[in-house]
Amino acid sequence: MIEILNSAEVARAREAGALVADILQALKSRSTAGTNLLDINRWAKAMIVEAGAVSCYVDYAPSFGRGPFGHYICTGVNDAVLHGLPHDYTLADGDLLTLDLAVLLDGVAADSAISFIVGDSKPSESIAMINATERALNAGIAAACPGARIGDISHAIGTVLSEAGYPVNTQFGGHGIGSTMHQDPHVPNTGRPGRGYTLRPGLLLALEPWVMADTAELITDPDGWTLRSATGCRTAHSEHTIAITSDGAEILTLPRQPHP
Ligand code: MG
Ligand code: MG
Repeated sequence: MIEILNSAEVARAREAGALVADILQALKSRSTAGTNLLDINRWAKAMIVEAGAVSCYVDYAPSFGRGPFGHYICTGVNDAVLHGLPHDYTLADGDLLTLDLAVLLDGVAADSAISFIVGDSKPSESIAMINATERALNAGIAAACPGARIGDISHAIGTVLSEAGYPVNTQFGGHGIGSTMHQDPHVPNTGRPGRGYTLRPGLLLALEPWVMADTAELITDPDGWTLRSATGCRTAHSEHTIAITSDGAEILTLPRQPHP
């Protein structure tokens, strides 16, 4: 089902998106060397509850996972890229951490993910990979005009990722979002322009380019959730929830407060 939201619902999505962004930035600033992934999950829970929001993850039990997820945030370290189940792991300087968070606030969901380097190290290949996913996300957002098609977004994202030298996995990509976290249409991270569903004002999409340095193949952890690169290489993921408006795309998951 594809939902088209009215202006009041988009306003609520804006609030949900800002909350997700603020929580992610707060968690980023607290994710230093020595932080345990279970601490990050605990902090995420506290912030979601304090805001009166509902986690989209705790009870999430799709066919591809060993559900329910049971945690409040996805934490992926280095080779873990999607659906990272928080576990007893202490972050080290130079780790590449991906945080992915979705909440429901006043009946509307928002979904965003960030990747960053923990501590003071500057591993250049990892930073280049993170930057490529952010550039691909921006290209996808720029292509998300009313009247454009899903394939235009996919093509824009895939072109940036491919030109940066990364293989593109087509199993998991972006998605519609609204009263629930995952809806149609699917938004692959590569595709042909001019194909697929036509974008219209009130459609909300979560765009989420992600890459692995040298492979497109995933393997699943024994935990039944965490997806890692098959080669053990590092990975990166960037995601925003956007609303299609009559003028173009509005990014809903930008922080309200400036963060360092
Ligand atoms: Mg997400
Ligand atoms: Mg998503």
